[in-house]
Formats: sequence, structure tokens, C-alpha cells
Amino acid sequence: RVKDEGGGQFHEYEPSLHATAEERRKLELSLRSALANNELFLNFQPVVNARSENLVSFEALVRWKNPDHGIVSPAKFIPLAEDTRLIVPIGQWVMQEACNEAATWPEYVKINVNVSPEQLLEPDFATTVVQALSRSGLTPSRLEIEVTESIFLRDADVARRALEQVMALGCSVALDDFGTGYSSLGYLRKLKFSTIKVDRSFVQGASQNSAESLAIINAVVAMAGSLGMTTTAEGVETAEEAAMIRDMGCDKIQGYHFGRPMPVEEVRAVFKRSETIRTA
Ligand code: C2E
Ligand code: MG
Ligand code: MG
Ligand code: MG
Repeated sequence: RVKDEGGGQFHEYEPSLHATAEERRKLELSLRSALANNELFLNFQPVVNARSENLVSFEALVRWKNPDHGIVSPAKFIPLAEDTRLIVPIGQWVMQEACNEAATWPEYVKINVNVSPEQLLEPDFATTVVQALSRSGLTPSRLEIEVTESIFLRDADVARRALEQVMALGCSVALDDFGTGYSSLGYLRKLKFSTIKVDRSFVQGASQNSAESLAIINAVVAMAGSLGMTTTAEGVETAEEAAMIRDMGCDKIQGYHFGRPMPVEEVRAVFKRSETIRTA
């Protein structure tokens, strides 16, 4: 890390930092052509009713497979896409693709689509939603948009107006990763979210008997109930966690216990099977 350049001069250099910047630059270049090269695709993760365990929705989760970089995690390329504004065209593609797919599902199954703050700040965000709905033929009430608390950090009013526009279309809005951001309860008063998604970290904490996590989940469930909002617990990995979450009064559950994010072919097969069962 510290290299002797001779003459008693020591220069600090950071090979790891350098590699990261270089890797980032390469990744950004590849991401710029990812859409055109058909390298993006969607996975879908089931969300179930906590009591009946019936399917209520699928969350669309974008994936990127590149010849040079392999499968790149969204945790890595979404922040990069946000920094470079590539999230705007990528987000449009996700919205259209997710609506197209959901339009082929049974009416009672909704689709959840993640939206970044950068997308909401685009003046034509609502137009892209209108377009995705009309091109796919999806009923607006079947689309739920997921945003995180980070939308309230910048231009909160612009973001709020954009969300109100899509709510006026009949879509709903969920507050994702609740409790992990710079939470301020004030905006729960300003925007009528349909769902609060309790972050996976609280579910994990609760399953390890953390009194704080349990108290926070209980408080969020009670608060959501009084506000007329529902709750979804994220990251439920075991039957024990599912039972605990259900007993705490969460309305919906998402997590590996009920299903991992799956490729579109698998989703189609699920519905094909259930059709066969119904007609049999
Ligand atoms: P998110 O919206 O909170 O999505 C849930 C993440 O938790 C997903 O990670 C999912 O695979 C993971 N997960 C679900 N159940 C479990 C579980 O039981 N255990 C564990 N350990 N993890 C679970 P993923 O797919 O890697 O996505 C990460 C994040 O990337 C998402 O978090 C979302 O913020 C963002 N993202 C994904 N797709 C999109 C997109 O199309 N647009 C935007 N703007 N962001 C997206
Ligand atoms: Mg989400
Ligand atoms: Mg989440
Ligand atoms: Mg998350």
C-alpha cells in the first residue's frame, strides 16, 4: 500500500480503489449497450397472503447478464444506472416488460415494479406508465409501484406529484425497505401508500429474538393499520419466520420460503399448471 519510491519518498497509492474506478468505468460502458444487446431480463418473486398463503403478486426484479461480466447483481448495477441516468431507459424497459408479462396472468395477480428516484423526477414519468399500461392492456389497479424512502431526500414534492399522478390512474404505491433509510414519518401523512414493506433486516432480527426488531415490526403493523395501509414482510426465509410474521399481523409475505425470484418461463409454467388443475 505504501511504496518506497526511493530517496526516502513514500507515496501512498490505493490499487484497490483504482481497480474499482476502472471496473466501474468498464461496467458503465457495458451497461450503456445492455438494453440494445438484449442483456437485461426480469425475474419474478412471489408475494403471498400471510394467512391463506395464496399468491397475491409478483415483484419484477431486473437481471443483467453480460458476456464480459457474467451475471451482475442489481445491488451493483442499479446504483451505477442511477448515477449515470441510464436508469431512465432501463426503468422504462422494466415497466413495459413487467406490464406485458402481468397482462397474461390471472386477473387477481398483481405486479410490483421498483422505481428509482431519478425516474420519478423525469417530467414524463406518468406518461411512461400510461404507455406501458395501454400497450400491454394491463388494468391499472394491477400495477403497484415500489419506491424507497430515498425519494423524499431530493425534490420530495416533484416525486410526490409524480406518484399522485400514477395513483390517479388507479395504480398503487408501496414504500419499500421501510425503516432502513432516513425515515421521517411526516411523508406517511402526505402520500397514501397502499403497502409498507418491512425490510428484511427486521425480519432477520425478529427471528433472532431481537426485542428491538420485534417492537419495530409490531409498531409498523399497528401504524400501517391505523393509516389504512397494508404491510408486507420482506426476506422471509423459513416456515418459522413465516408463522411469526403472520402472528404479528403482517398482511403479506415475500421471501425465499415461498419462492425465490424466478425466470419468466417458470412463472408461465406455474399458471399453466394451475389452469390444468382448474379445468381438470
Ligand atoms: P428490493 O426491491 O427490496 O427487492 C428485494 C430483494 O431481496 C431482491 O434482491 C430479492 O432477490 C431479495 N430477496 C427476496 N427474498 C429474500 C430472502 O428471503 N432472503 C434474502 N437474503 N434476499 C431476498 P435483488 O433482486 O438482488 O434486488 C436488489 C435491489 O435492486 C431491489 O431491492 C431493488 O431495490 C433493486 N432493483 C431490482 N430490480 C429493479 C428494477 O427493475 N428497478 C429499480 N429501480 N431497482 C431494482
Ligand atoms: Mg422492491
Ligand atoms: Mg425491498
Ligand atoms: Mg431491499
